[in-house]
Amino acid sequence: MWRPFSSIGIMKKKKNNKMKKELLNKIKEAEYVCHECGCKYGEAPTGDIIYTAHEDNCDICGENKSLAHIRLYRYLYKTLKK
Ligand SMILES: [Zn+2]
Repeated sequence: MWRPFSSIGIMKKKKNNKMKKELLNKIKEAEYVCHECGCKYGEAPTGDIIYTAHEDNCDICGENKSLAHIRLYRYLYKTLKK
């Protein structure tokens, strides 16, 4: 049975500092991310994956790197579901 976990979410949110909130907002709005951020906040791709990478500033860390779409990292679901 699915239960809402809002009460737990509120307790966790209180512990977060401002920087973490900003990071979460970035992750929510991110579209293209570098491999490091993708693996850190999403799930590392497994197997043979074909994707288009381009050089730009990462939506999360802001560094100029080779970026891939967040779908490659399961839309960063690992971080966002928390
Ligand atoms: Zn990055």
